[in-house]
Amino acid sequence: MIQIENLTKVFKSGTDSEVTALHNVSFTIEDGDIFGIIGMSGAGKSTLLRCLSMLERPTSGRILQDGVDLAALRGRALIDAHRRTGVVFQGYNLLMQKSVRQNVAFPLRLAGAKKADADARVDELLELVGLADKADAYPAQLSGGQRQRVAIARALATRPEVLLCDEPTSALDPLTTGQVLGLLRSINRKLGVTIVIITHEISVVRSICNKVAVIDAAQFAEGGRTDEIFDRP
Ligand code: ADP
Ligand code: ADP
Repeated sequence: MIQIENLTKVFKSGTDSEVTALHNVSFTIEDGDIFGIIGMSGAGKSTLLRCLSMLERPTSGRILQDGVDLAALRGRALIDAHRRTGVVFQGYNLLMQKSVRQNVAFPLRLAGAKKADADARVDELLELVGLADKADAYPAQLSGGQRQRVAIARALATRPEVLLCDEPTSALDPLTTGQVLGLLRSINRKLGVTIVIITHEISVVRSICNKVAVIDAAQFAEGGRTDEIFDRP
């Protein structure tokens, strides 16, 4: 369970200019959720994701994962927390000079896995995302949807409990969007991974999220079960 409590993030640029990207945001993500965080451009969604993934520190308020304040973690406990949370970045962040296999193995090698163990895990992950035949390809040789699958496989490499996805379908056509959302749904069902999706598209939330938080101008506007927040068409 992830409890976001009165989360505020203020960016200071220079001496007298500051931007409040998040103001007093509170909501809870339960284990097993496919949780949508929706809002317009500039609402604060990416900042929220960066706080959840520990890339950014809250100015005030806290994020508790299974009761533990993420900002209080140091050393070994911080490394473990990073492994428990996989991130699929907007724009994928793949290493262009490395093969699909090397990209997916990267977090494992960073964690100190032996090459043979990493290879076995990579095979399993590429099978899971349907790219077993692309292990030796390079990102430039892949379609957008395939690159997104590589990014998802890499984020799952350390067996995280939570997968954070930043606008996972915004660069994809409708058919590929459906396939990637289907993959995320099956990862949630088969592996029991909690999935958090940042998006500006109501259709994405409607199609796979059981719960949703609406972020508007840095604040939590409303949230709850998707079928209660959004009318069915
Ligand atoms: P969204 O993901 O919903 O588009 P963001 O979280 O990217 O929104 O941005 C929220 C607000 O915070 C915007 O006004 C943005 O310009 C500002 N912001 C985000 N990151 C920074 C930063 N590193 N420094 C200064 N301002 C930032
Ligand atoms: P650096 O800032 O040193 O480049 P990053 O934070 O980008 O390090 O992480 C290094 C690599 O590990 C990147 O390829 C990134 O996508 C991946 N990565 C980062 N955090 C996670 C995570 N929680 N789960 C899986 N992969 C991760």
